[in-house]
Amino acid sequence: MSTIQLNFLTSKINERKYTDAILEWIFSHFRSKIQVDKIMEVNNWTINVYPTLLASYDFGKIVNLNTQIPHGVCKPTTKTVDCYVKDINNDFVMLQNFMTVSHELAHMMLAIFYPDKRSTYRYNDKSWGKVGQEGNFFVTEVHDREKEMVLEKKWIRTIEVWRWSLAGRNIGKIYLPSFDITDLTSQ
Ligand SMILES: [Zn+2]
Repeated sequence: MSTIQLNFLTSKINERKYTDAILEWIFSHFRSKIQVDKIMEVNNWTINVYPTLLASYDFGKIVNLNTQIPHGVCKPTTKTVDCYVKDINNDFVMLQNFMTVSHELAHMMLAIFYPDKRSTYRYNDKSWGKVGQEGNFFVTEVHDREKEMVLEKKWIRTIEVWRWSLAGRNIGKIYLPSFDITDLTSQ
């Protein structure tokens, strides 16, 4: 049996904290009801965390992308999530990075829960989606929620993860705002 692969190509961020946060965010979707087939599918995915300095310039249709801003790409065909984060070991930077990471993980989770569902955009998105245009639900819903997060302060979920010292001693919790899609995975 495979398990989800987490690869860090960063050098400064605390991999332990990010790993805790990523696993907490993903697997907290499964607490209300055991959904073994979905958990098995999560375990087929690979999540790569890169520093923004390594951002690929080949983003196809996405133009004017500032590669120093945390961003990512979710590829359901290869079951891969690539996250580009600020490689700075700082809790405030982690707050910013994790909103981006959880945005990409939201694409992944909806691709797992709704692989074939189509939907139409409620808003123009930051790349090429236009209001009323049809697209994959795992794309349109995340991008529409990102708009509603800004406009209506919706779809933000705070998760708790333990904070560790470098020696591995547990010294308290960290509360991380993240992208909320729990209403779509807990039925
Ligand atoms: Zn996105």
